Amino acid sequence: MSASSEVLERLIAGDRTALARAITWAESGDARFLDVLCGANHLVGRGWRLGVTGPPGAGKSTLTNELISAHRAAERTVGVVAVDPSSPFTGGALLGDRIRMDGRTSDEGVFIRSMATRGSHGGLARATVDAVDAMDAFGLEELLIETVGVGQAEYDVVGAADTVLVVLCPGAGDGVQALKSGILEVADVLCVNKADLKGADRLVSDLEEAVELRDNDPRGGWSTPVVSCSAGKSEGVDDVLAAFASHRAWLEDGRLEEHRKGRRLAQVRRALTEAFDAEIWESAGWSERARKLLESGQPHYDVVSGLIDELRAAVREAAGGSTTEA
Ligand code: GDP
Repeated sequence: MSASSEVLERLIAGDRTALARAITWAESGDARFLDVLCGANHLVGRGWRLGVTGPPGAGKSTLTNELISAHRAAERTVGVVAVDPSSPFTGGALLGDRIRMDGRTSDEGVFIRSMATRGSHGGLARATVDAVDAMDAFGLEELLIETVGVGQAEYDVVGAADTVLVVLCPGAGDGVQALKSGILEVADVLCVNKADLKGADRLVSDLEEAVELRDNDPRGGWSTPVVSCSAGKSEGVDDVLAAFASHRAWLEDGRLEEHRKGRRLAQVRRALTEAFDAEIWESAGWSERARKLLESGQPHYDVVSGLIDELRAAVREAAGGSTTEA
């Protein structure tokens, strides 16, 4: 039996070591992961994916811990993928933060994995989705994807979730910053953590106002609720869970399939973009050509437009020599 069939078989049978192995393959871009995923594909899609993002220090880890406890109290199994797209290492502060979460690994109903950061955003986003797919196939019911920070890379990572939770807290102009960074566009649920601190009520009302003022809703009629909690004091977590439940019910009312298809499509696009980048820039030697053109004194925008023209011609030729412009 090949290594991948063995891992597949054991993963389906509920062997945690096999799940860990599959995720390691996903993380390192090992082709054996695809064999496992193909074999387990019929088991993917049963768990609920919650993406948790927000600025560092907002309380994501604390809240994630509370969510794990709540799910475990309700006898639901939990998979957690903790990701730090901005860090070149999995160690350091991130690992320090994770210790509290990793303490739970003795609980058979919880599986936690911190992802090692790979070179590109696409790579990390893909590896994260792969890890969550593996946990889903394994049979974990509540799948949490937690990121550090709020930026494009983080959105890519949580973009594969069914429900995206953005956690903010009062102070340090976070609210304003968050609004500027386009957080409303990704949030299905907004949570103001540290409700015990001054300024929390104000942040809640600012966010509510911003949600109301949002002129075009990118999520087809879902109005993002703003909830508050003090995860550090285990207060208000039920309200956060209730908001997830409403979003889930809303999606499950005939919208889920379309929603997941959209997110899968985005995943395909990300993977393709990454492959194109590797193929064209690295393998096909375009980085070298671009460097030479720049050295010859061509302005960079001329280099870009020249190379894009060439690329288009190559794509047309590959598509069968059609001469019509796209
Ligand atoms: P993360 O970086 O978003 O994961 O944030 P953490 O969960 O590590 O929390 C950052 C800090 O905020 C920690 O020192 C927590 O103890 C603290 N914290 C978390 N929740 C609360 C809360 O509800 N109230 C207060 N006052 N502090 C909290």
